[in-house]
Amino acid sequence: MDDAPHPLADRFSRIRAIALDRDGTINVDVKYPHRLEDLQIIDGFAEFMAWAAETKLPVSVITNQSGIARGYYDVEAAHRFNAAINASIAPLGLRIEHFEMCPHLPDAGCTCRKPATGMLENLSARYGIAPNEWVVFGDQYSDIECASRFGALSVGLGAKFAAPGLAPISPDLVIGALGDFPAIYRQAIANSSRI
Ligand SMILES: [Mg+2]
Ligand SMILES: [Zn+2]
Repeated sequence: MDDAPHPLADRFSRIRAIALDRDGTINVDVKYPHRLEDLQIIDGFAEFMAWAAETKLPVSVITNQSGIARGYYDVEAAHRFNAAINASIAPLGLRIEHFEMCPHLPDAGCTCRKPATGMLENLSARYGIAPNEWVVFGDQYSDIECASRFGALSVGLGAKFAAPGLAPISPDLVIGALGDFPAIYRQAIANSSRI
């Protein structure tokens, strides 16, 4: 049974770049996290980043930060928070290459706030990597809808996606946390290349 090809093996083998949601995906979402003391990295993030580096997949972040437009914090604070995430993995020689942030209010009508696809479009153009070669990880429906509209593979994280019948939109794959993904990917690729 374990030797059966993973249903997503073909999609996995097409992946050339990774886009991560930030709050609730990399770090615990403590509601508008922006102070350095708000940064609690979720277990498995460093392992995920090590796998991405080994697999030669660049990692970027796409994050809605309406707290900026709401006046809760400024863009410099958001940059400092992003830098602190990278500082946590820098000793391992790992790095998130780009942080795309939407600073706007939900009703601003911008083209970047997820589920809109503007941030993915920016990254796609920057890397010259097609929509269906991206995989997006996130803990909210808006992440999954954004991936789906764009044409990327979507991975839903956490409890919200565990009861598929109840979700308004279903990711292509559901896992507990980022750290679960490398083993699933490796097994799927290994099984598919054995055929
Ligand atoms: Mg999130
Ligand atoms: Zn925006």
